[in-house]
Amino acid sequence: MSTAYLLLGSNLGDRLAILKEAVQYLAATAGSLEAVSGLYETAAWGLEDQPAFLNQAVHLCTSLPAEALLNVCLRAEQQAGRERKVRWGARTLDVDILFYDSLVLDTPRLTVPHPRLPERRFALVPLAEIAPEVVHPVLHQTVAELLVACKDDLAVIRAEDV
Ligand code: AMP
Repeated sequence: MSTAYLLLGSNLGDRLAILKEAVQYLAATAGSLEAVSGLYETAAWGLEDQPAFLNQAVHLCTSLPAEALLNVCLRAEQQAGRERKVRWGARTLDVDILFYDSLVLDTPRLTVPHPRLPERRFALVPLAEIAPEVVHPVLHQTVAELLVACKDDLAVIRAEDV
C-alpha cells in the first residue's frame, strides 16, 4: 500500500457539497481515507479576479500506482462538471497529488511532489494540519518547515461554518 496526500479545491458552485462528494468518491475508488483536514477558505492564486477557493487536504492509503491515482483524480474533477478553459481559472473541482510516498516523478502527465507545493500557502496550510512531519523527498524539509519558509501572503482562513 502507498501513502498519498491530495489537495482538493473548489471555487464554483456549492463548494462544500462538491468537496464532500469528491472525498467520498476518492474513498470509494482509490483506497482508505486516513485523514482529512479542515476546510480552508483561500483567496484565488494565479488569476486573482475570481471567487475564493475552499481547500482541503486528504491522506489516502492506496494500492493504485501514482498514474492510476491521477486518473481517479481527473475522473473526480469530471464528475464535478469541471470544464478546462482557463489555466488557474475558476473550477468546480481541482484535485492535485501533493505527495505519493517518497516518489519523485516528472513526466508530461504527472509531476510528484507537486511542483508548486512549496510556494502555495493554500496547499501547505491544510497539509500541515494532517501531515506536519512528512518530509518533502526533494527539498528534505518537513511540511511544517516548508510552511514557515513559504513567502506566499494570500490569506488562508480556517472555515468553521462555510
Ligand atoms: P490543472 O488544470 O492545473 O488542474 O492541471 C491538471 C493537469 O496537471 C492534469 O491533467 C495532470 O496531467 C497534470 N499534473 C501534473 N502533475 C500533477 C499532480 N501532481 N497532480 C495533479 N495533476 C498533475
